[in-house]
Amino acid sequence: MTAIELTDRQIKIVEIVKERGPITGEQIGEILNLTRATLRPDLAILTMSGILEARPRVGYYYNGQSGNTLVARAIGKIRVKDVKSLPVVVREATTVYDAIVTLFTEDVGTLIIVDNEGGLIGVVSRKDLLKIAIGGNDAQKIPISMVMTRMPNIVTVTPEDTIYQAAKRLIVHEIDTLPVVRTFALPNGHERQEVVGRITKTTITKLLVELGEGHN
Ligand code: ADP
Repeated sequence: MTAIELTDRQIKIVEIVKERGPITGEQIGEILNLTRATLRPDLAILTMSGILEARPRVGYYYNGQSGNTLVARAIGKIRVKDVKSLPVVVREATTVYDAIVTLFTEDVGTLIIVDNEGGLIGVVSRKDLLKIAIGGNDAQKIPISMVMTRMPNIVTVTPEDTIYQAAKRLIVHEIDTLPVVRTFALPNGHERQEVVGRITKTTITKLLVELGEGHN
């Protein structure tokens, strides 16, 4: 992962520049009682990451928008393949009853339905299952294929998509889980979406906590 972790000294430099900028490297060094050469790597990191701006003959000043820019850069760089978790999948002949049991045993809210080759067929959420369960149906007899949302209406991501794209899809489509798929072309010209993982709202929340670690 590529979140930028600032050292204590770098944080101090940012504070100084925030308060007194524009300020030269020399002046920052005087305040911190360090030579300019000692500070050079820190200043390089802070300017390269966009937190500080350096203007020749003026000095360093604080880029007020850097907080947002940093977050935007981080989530635009992290890929689905870096953070995806294992998919929890069942076959389409699985009964509603067994699907509900799987929600508990696997501790998930959504199941992904696949064919014998691991190809994506559908998705079933906890509310899909609740709906059928409270309708007075025999959950032991109904196959999950009768209640799932099916292809081609499934919203997916690929391993190469960014985590920003994934999070955006979760929000736009108002869903909790995205199957991660790799697309294969079959000899007959059709395409198969092999399920290789899942991204959930929990994935995104965990990532936010990781990015915030050490800064809060
Ligand atoms: P819940 O229904 O438990 O709140 P969701 O918000 O994830 O969970 O699901 C809402 C509806 O969208 C359900 O009918 C579900 O089948 C469907 N759904 C869930 N995930 C996807 C997805 N990735 N693509 C398309 N439809 C989905």
